[in-house]
Amino acid sequence: MNENIKKQIIEALKDQKEIFGDELFEELNKRKTSVIKVSGEISPKKTDDEFGLFEEEKEGWEKAKSLDELKNQIKDCTKCPLHKSRNKFVFGSGNPNADIMCVGEGPGAEEDKQGLPFVGRAGQLLTEILKAIKFTRDEVYIANVIKSRPPENRTPLPSEMESCLPYLKKQIGLIKPKLILCLGLTAAQGLLKKKETMTNLRGKLFEFESGSFQTKVMVTYHPAALLRNPNLKRDCWEDMKKFRKLYDEMK
Ligand code: URA
Repeated sequence: MNENIKKQIIEALKDQKEIFGDELFEELNKRKTSVIKVSGEISPKKTDDEFGLFEEEKEGWEKAKSLDELKNQIKDCTKCPLHKSRNKFVFGSGNPNADIMCVGEGPGAEEDKQGLPFVGRAGQLLTEILKAIKFTRDEVYIANVIKSRPPENRTPLPSEMESCLPYLKKQIGLIKPKLILCLGLTAAQGLLKKKETMTNLRGKLFEFESGSFQTKVMVTYHPAALLRNPNLKRDCWEDMKKFRKLYDEMK
């Protein structure tokens, strides 16, 4: 629906709310599963609005049926300012039917140059970590929360993560991994929407939903953190053994 028309309708509803009070909205919300927030944000997206008024048109990428299709739809994304400084959009790589997905924070210099995730030093260490628990890079799928490199490898801003996260969720929905390994606090906080520390997050199992698809997530240190502080390798190894055991028990 045209954005202006939507805004006008939302304004009109706000006026109605002032006149009739909240009951009108509560009554409406009881009848429908989807909730209209009069803040201007419509959540979750509606597909079955009573009058068709709020039916949100899906963007093309949301309808993608394969990773290739999704990549083609989003590779020129300009939703956040990072598109201006990126060299290449780093979509993700690996087995499109992977049981295991690794999720990092965002591309660094080498990834930005090659358009592939985890191909720099941290990437080499990730390959080793996977090998240690008997996975090859080819059998897993690797992606990041954000697809464009932040300048100077700074931590992505919450707004940048918000813009890009739906793409990762769509990737997860298409791949349908049995287990996701989240690498580092930024990726974990972004994906799981949790503000907790790494100490609180690692080693635990979280549920993750993408549309009707549900999977499980574990968190460990980012390989770059292990390069900076090798003392963390011991804990990471414990996490990885747990991760492998969990996976074996799922088979
Ligand atoms: N760090 C990440 O989080 N992702 C990459 O792709 C590379 C380094």
